[in-house]
Amino acid sequence: MHQFPVAPSATTDAVASNHADARLCSLCSNAVPTHETRTAELRPLCTGCADQLEKDLAAEKNLGSRFPVALAAGIAGALVAAGVWAAIVVFTEYEVGYVAVLVGYLAGMGVKLGAGKARGKSLQITAAALGLFGLVVAKYFIFAHFFAASLAEDGISAGPFDPTILAIFPVALPGMLSPFDLLWVLLALSTAWKVPAASKVALQR
Ligand SMILES: [Zn+2]
Repeated sequence: MHQFPVAPSATTDAVASNHADARLCSLCSNAVPTHETRTAELRPLCTGCADQLEKDLAAEKNLGSRFPVALAAGIAGALVAAGVWAAIVVFTEYEVGYVAVLVGYLAGMGVKLGAGKARGKSLQITAAALGLFGLVVAKYFIFAHFFAASLAEDGISAGPFDPTILAIFPVALPGMLSPFDLLWVLLALSTAWKVPAASKVALQR
């Protein structure tokens, strides 16, 4: 017959009651009194942290008047990245597909920074749309550069926003795209989409 060791009950009880009475706040590690029952994702929170989390989550939902700022900053981010990508292609004459992810990332970061504390779906859609805009702009810069260079060989000078180049670009764009580009577009847009996403934490009372 096997004998289980019988623990000195006083010690076990003390440990057990310590656990029950002194839960620690999962954010600041302070003791949470038993009558406070607020949790986030099943983890206990002290009143101070729960109030702060509640405020932060409310701020995420409140886009208020920040949308134009988020949009402008997202456009700026997309354009900067598009310029960087186009410059890399023009100087190396090699199309580095993964720089497309930078376009998505900077579009998303612009939207996120411009939005202040706000997060969520409308900002994610904006970021993805601006990522796509940035990719098209980058393609345009690249196309305009090489098209102007070929015109220059015939002795015709054309600026980057030459009406002829602008008119031909939409027609030429599908021919410039490879199946690989689709992959980079998807990566760029999913990157942009993730940056201004809302917190997945839920606060329970
Ligand atoms: Zn706390």
